[in-house]
Amino acid sequence: MEIYLDHAATTRIAPEALRAMVVFEESGRGNPFRGVHDAAYRSTIAYEDARKTVADFFGAFVEQTIFTKGTTEGLNIVASGFARHLQPGDEIVLSLLEHHAQSLPWRAVAESKGCTIRFIPLAEDGLVDVEAARKVITQKTKIVAVTHISNILGSIVHIKEIVEIAHAVGAFVCIDGAQAAGHIPVNVQDLGVDAYAVSAHKMYGPMGIGVLFLSPKLQDMLQPLLFGGGMIEEILADGCPVFAEGTRRFEAGTPNVTGAVGFAAACNALRGKRQDILRHEQEMTRMFWESLSAIDHVVLYGSKPGDHRIGVISFSVKEMHPHDVAQALADKGVAVRAGFHCAATLARCLHPDGVVRVSIGKDTTREECGMFLDVMRRIVCHSDRRVAGREGASSQTEESS
Ligand code: PMP
Repeated sequence: MEIYLDHAATTRIAPEALRAMVVFEESGRGNPFRGVHDAAYRSTIAYEDARKTVADFFGAFVEQTIFTKGTTEGLNIVASGFARHLQPGDEIVLSLLEHHAQSLPWRAVAESKGCTIRFIPLAEDGLVDVEAARKVITQKTKIVAVTHISNILGSIVHIKEIVEIAHAVGAFVCIDGAQAAGHIPVNVQDLGVDAYAVSAHKMYGPMGIGVLFLSPKLQDMLQPLLFGGGMIEEILADGCPVFAEGTRRFEAGTPNVTGAVGFAAACNALRGKRQDILRHEQEMTRMFWESLSAIDHVVLYGSKPGDHRIGVISFSVKEMHPHDVAQALADKGVAVRAGFHCAATLARCLHPDGVVRVSIGKDTTREECGMFLDVMRRIVCHSDRRVAGREGASSQTEESS
């Protein structure tokens, strides 16, 4: 039996999402916005209905709801589109929690525009230090790009406070919502953010689809990332394009209608259940944390279970490489993740070899917790598994983890 504890990497698809996609495909698809026949029309309606459902689930307006391939594409749209508003000397503020999907696009933009990147440090509890943010965010700051929830520590960042500080100096706020959407209720209007990016596959939807919410002001300012069919109103006689208004300006090419339909069904399957899911996951987090902390040689990172974290638990085992721990768990049918988790700045601060990560989902059970712990105790006791230093470690790279 497989025990799946890698929900932060991807969740399993909800049956409702899978069914909705099959029904849509079986109905006979056409290319949306690009035909007058019934199949094209059906696809257009399915796509726009999905947009309404997803927008509503996140407390957003349809006009600000852009379908993407996922969080990575969403954050790249913001960074590359915002670049033309940056000057040498401007500052981009990140936190130390950032996933490479957020940090790398902004690093690339900073390099090409001569901007400086500044980091908000972390408080002891693994949260972005709001008091320190007041000093790091200044009149020079043009954008504050932070995650909603850390994919290593599970800590929930105080987004509203960060938004208040950033907006007070006229900076925009771009949030990586990848780890939040499937675990806590998210209302983008209420958070007051300028950009919020999400992946459907981390919230029981299909892979290859996500959404980017943009405030009207930021949306007007951004240059599209992709150019092509479907994103213009017309081409003038001199060959100049007139770009489409609103969301379609950012959705060049044939859209992933099937994915959007599955994403919407996944949202509907979670609707009204998110507080209960959060409560269950927090209870499971306590159980995993307390049991793991009772095992000799296990070192846990981040804050103890509480209201400001979700079920992402990172740890290391003394004298064992994290990849060896993950492999030993996988050999016994337990799926976890090890390494730098595409957030190398933080992971290296915790442990030079990276960490092992257990991530809990809505369907994780007490029994699974018990079985995971039995395997963990055996692994830790089994001295053959121990390696002195790095030699026995697997050769996985940072990006493969
Ligand atoms: N941000 C965070 C915090 C993540 O955990 C991930 C996925 N590992 C991403 C961004 C990127 O998501 P995707 O690969 O779906 O674009």
